[in-house]
Amino acid sequence: TTHLVWLRNDLRITDNKALHAACSDPEARVLAVFIATPQQWRQHEMAPRQAALIHASLRAVQQALAQKGIALHCHAGTDFAASIDWLADYCRREQVDALFYNRQYELNERRRDARLEQQLNGRVRCHGFDDSLLLPPGSVQTGGGEMYKVYTPFRNAFIHRLTESDLNCLPAPKTRAGGALPVPEAPAAFDYPTADIGDGYPAGEEGALQRLRAFCREQVQDYLRQRDLPALAGTSSLSPYLAIGVLSPRQCFNRLRAECPQLLEDRESGAFAWLNELIWREFYRHLLVAYPELCRHRPFIAWTDKVRWCDDAAKLQAWQRGETGYPIVDAAMRQLNATGWMHNRLRMISASFLVKDLLIDWRAGERYFMSQLLDGDLAANNGGWQWAASTGTDAAPYFRIFNPTTQGERFDPQGTFIRKWLPELADVPDNDIHHPHRWAEKQPCVLNYPLPIVDHKQARLETLAAFEAAKRGE
Ligand code: FAD
Repeated sequence: TTHLVWLRNDLRITDNKALHAACSDPEARVLAVFIATPQQWRQHEMAPRQAALIHASLRAVQQALAQKGIALHCHAGTDFAASIDWLADYCRREQVDALFYNRQYELNERRRDARLEQQLNGRVRCHGFDDSLLLPPGSVQTGGGEMYKVYTPFRNAFIHRLTESDLNCLPAPKTRAGGALPVPEAPAAFDYPTADIGDGYPAGEEGALQRLRAFCREQVQDYLRQRDLPALAGTSSLSPYLAIGVLSPRQCFNRLRAECPQLLEDRESGAFAWLNELIWREFYRHLLVAYPELCRHRPFIAWTDKVRWCDDAAKLQAWQRGETGYPIVDAAMRQLNATGWMHNRLRMISASFLVKDLLIDWRAGERYFMSQLLDGDLAANNGGWQWAASTGTDAAPYFRIFNPTTQGERFDPQGTFIRKWLPELADVPDNDIHHPHRWAEKQPCVLNYPLPIVDHKQARLETLAAFEAAKRGE
C-alpha cells in the first residue's frame, strides 16, 4: 500500500493529523509532496516574506521527514488547476492508494480539493482532516443550527464544546521500517519575488515550540496588562508560524493549559485572554466556511457596499509608506513595511485610519496588508479589516471612529514605539510626540516629517455622512 501526504498549510511533523493518519499503518510506503503555486500566490497577493518563510519551513520539514524515513518531494507548480493535474498524474505514477491532507477553508482551496477528488474518481481514497483549528467549522452553532454572527456567544459555546473534545496533540510519526533517509537536497527556490525575513523567525517547528513554551511560562500572566502596548513585546508573535502551520492551535492550547491548569475557570487571567485571541482566530475561520462570499471580499453587511469610497492614490500611498503625519499610524506602517509583522492594536488603528479618516475602501488596505504580512491569513485579515471598517460580523459600529491621536496617547504614552520607527521625531518631547508639529512650530528647526494629510475632526464628519448616505441607500 502506498500512502501520500499532501502538505499545504501544515508545515510540521508533530501534531499533524494527515501525516499521523498516513503513517498509522506501519507496512505502508509513505510519500509526501508539497506543491508550490506561485501564480496562485500572486493572485492571493501573498507577501514575498511569507513565501520565504514557507520555503525555509519546507526545508526544515523535509529534513525532519527524512529522519523518519519519509521523502518529501517539492514540486514547482503554477496554480491550483495545474496542481491537481500534476497530483493525479503523480498518484498514478507512484501507484498511490490513499491521499491524506489537512483541510484548508478558503474558497479556491476547497474547490481545488473537491475537483481533485472528482478527478481521482475513487481510484485513490482521499482523507481530509480538520487540523488547523481547535474545533472544526460548523461544529459550533446556535440552537437553530446556524453560525454565530456575534463573537461572545460563539466563544461561550466554543468553550463548552472545547471541554467535550479530544484536543490531545499527536506525536511525530515513528521512523519507518526502512530507517532514516540521507539528508535531501534543499527544495528549489520558488518562482516568486524573494525577501529577507531577518532572524526573528527561525525556520522549523522546534523554534516555534520553544517560543510557545517561553511565552506560556514567562509572559502569559502579564498578557492582559501588556497586550495593548506596542512598545513592549507583550504578545506571543507566533502568528507567522500559526498562519502556515509550523505550529498547531492544539499545541498552543495544550501548552497553555499545562502552564495554567485553571485556564477555563479563571476568566480574568492573562491565560484566558490569550485563549480568547486563539478563539477569535477560530471565529473568523468558521465564518469563512459559513459565508464563503467573505473569500471574495464581499462585506458581511451588504449596505456598506454602497459607501462612496474616496479613490485617492496619493493618500493611499502616504498611508502605505507611513507618511500620513499621524505618528502612531506612520510608526505602525513602517513596522509593517520593515518586518512584515504589526502589533494587533496598531493593525486596528492603522486600518481604522485608512477607512475612517481617509475614506478609502477597506479592500485596498486588506490587499496591502496581505502583500506585506509574514502572518498573512485570509480569514484573520479579512475579519480584522471588516471589523475595523464596520462592514463585518460583530464589527465596530460605523459611528465609533478611533481618534488616531488619542489612541497613540493611550497606547504609546511616552512615544517609545513611535520613536523607534520614526527617528525623525527623536527630539520631540513626550508631551508633544503625538502632535509633533505643535512643538516644531515653536522651534528654530524644521521637522522632517509630513503635516497631517487630513484633519481628523473633519474627516470623521465626512465618513459619518458617507456611511449614513449608504445606509439610507443613497
Ligand atoms: P497574540 O496576541 O499572541 O495571539 C495569539 C494568536 O491568536 C495569534 O498568533 C493569532 O494566530 C491569533 N489571533 C490573535 N488576535 C487575533 C485576531 N484579532 N483575529 C484572529 N486571530 C487572532 N492575524 C493573522 O494571523 N493574520 C493576518 O493576516 C491578520 N490580519 C489582521 C488585520 C487587521 C486589520 C487586524 C485588526 C488584525 C489582523 N490579525 C491577523 C489579527 C492579529 O492582529 C494578529 O493575529 C496578531 O497581532 C498576531 O500577533 P501575536 O502572534 O503576537 O498575537
